[in-house]
Amino acid sequence: MEHQATMEKLIALAKRRGFIYQGSEIYGGLAGTYDYGPLGTALKNNIKNLWWKMFVDGRDDMYGMDAAVLMNGRVWETTGHVAGFADPLVECTKCKKRFRADQIPDRTKCPECGGALGSERQFNMMLSTRVGAMEDSSSVSYLRPETAQGMFVNFKNVVDSFHPKLPFGMGQVGKAFRNEITPRDFIFRLRELEQMEIEYFVRPEDWERAFEEWRVAMGEWLKAVGIDTSRVHEVDIAPEDLAHYSKRTIDFEFEYPFGQKELYGLAYRTDFDLGSHTKASSVDLSYIEEDGTRFMPHVIEPSFGVDRTVLAVMLSAYAEDELGGGGRTYLKFHPRVAPVKAAVFPLMKNKPELVAKAREVYQALKAEIPQVMWDDNGNVGKRYRRQDEIGTPFCITVDFDTLGENADLKDTITLRDRDTGEQRRVPVSELIEIIKKSIR
Ligand code: ATP
Repeated sequence: MEHQATMEKLIALAKRRGFIYQGSEIYGGLAGTYDYGPLGTALKNNIKNLWWKMFVDGRDDMYGMDAAVLMNGRVWETTGHVAGFADPLVECTKCKKRFRADQIPDRTKCPECGGALGSERQFNMMLSTRVGAMEDSSSVSYLRPETAQGMFVNFKNVVDSFHPKLPFGMGQVGKAFRNEITPRDFIFRLRELEQMEIEYFVRPEDWERAFEEWRVAMGEWLKAVGIDTSRVHEVDIAPEDLAHYSKRTIDFEFEYPFGQKELYGLAYRTDFDLGSHTKASSVDLSYIEEDGTRFMPHVIEPSFGVDRTVLAVMLSAYAEDELGGGGRTYLKFHPRVAPVKAAVFPLMKNKPELVAKAREVYQALKAEIPQVMWDDNGNVGKRYRRQDEIGTPFCITVDFDTLGENADLKDTITLRDRDTGEQRRVPVSELIEIIKKSIR
């Protein structure tokens, strides 16, 4: 029987096994920040690389970008973020704690101490900072609250350098910052987060087709990255709830243990961004077709949170079962994103010839597949459990038969499958291909 993860179990595993730690933990933390440890970093990099491969390198209509986090403050005035990127805030008159008004059950009573809540006001979520040595208003800048604008402001640069034909898109992965009133639910609502975003430019009359293509592509991504699609729901946002720039938005919601909430968004942003930047900057961001027609392209924006992807991938992978007479916890990551693809063990660590042979197998694998691990601690059963818990799809044991004790089995190893626990003898020479095939 499989069991779903609770947040407590997942957070404990993430910390214990080196995936995700509380930010600045030894100083008591900093709310809304988390640090990715060695395995979390590997998992996250694998996710980002897969995304880049699928949506940028894997296509010929996409242009990759890496724009600066700090942008001219006028960008955020133009987009409406300075005036309107805000959540409703209420403060308790008794304990002084602050809450997001739309996230508490009763807008009159403090959810923590029961005290009376003050009146609601809009709290801007942009994190501001000062750039340069001048302490005047011209030095105010913001840590970008989304990566999207780095692409819009470079639209003309990319068009001038590459002369792409419509439709084409720009893709970017990077950090964004939001001063969330109540960061919560582990890496779900962060103040420092990472996004993978696409701005896909189309002729105005083509938006519906492109929207549908991206809806399907996002579904394919969910499968490729190993998110349980039976827990994902597409929610068409009602017209009255749409952001001011959007004509249609679908939220991809995931069933987290704390409720069904947004994982990704897909928005039709019309020509709002290019149009507003053209007006505000006086630089014409329209597109000229080969026949000389000039117009403002419209935009479809698929937006993916990296941290929410990590969370959904870990929650989808988390499983508990009985194996070999004992309970175990394992992460059934798709091998593509697993932080460790294979672990190599010598059957015993006090037999130099076994260790030498296992090292040889390990080095040969590592040269081809860098994400492999060496483990010679404790007995093989314990090593299996440890690797299961971090989601390693394959365990490779080098034993006396590998050395030729049984001549028929010379240069074969035991390959153990994480999900079934099954073991089979495999020639060392086939290992690299087996693992490479699984991560393709
Ligand atoms: P929410 O309604 O949950 O606040 P949002 O609608 O403001 O999210 P978008 O502005 O559409 O989110 O951001 C695009 C994506 O960035 C989201 O789908 C999500 O994956 C991610 N994201 C947004 N805010 C956060 C956050 N505070 N922490 C982690 N990821 C976030």
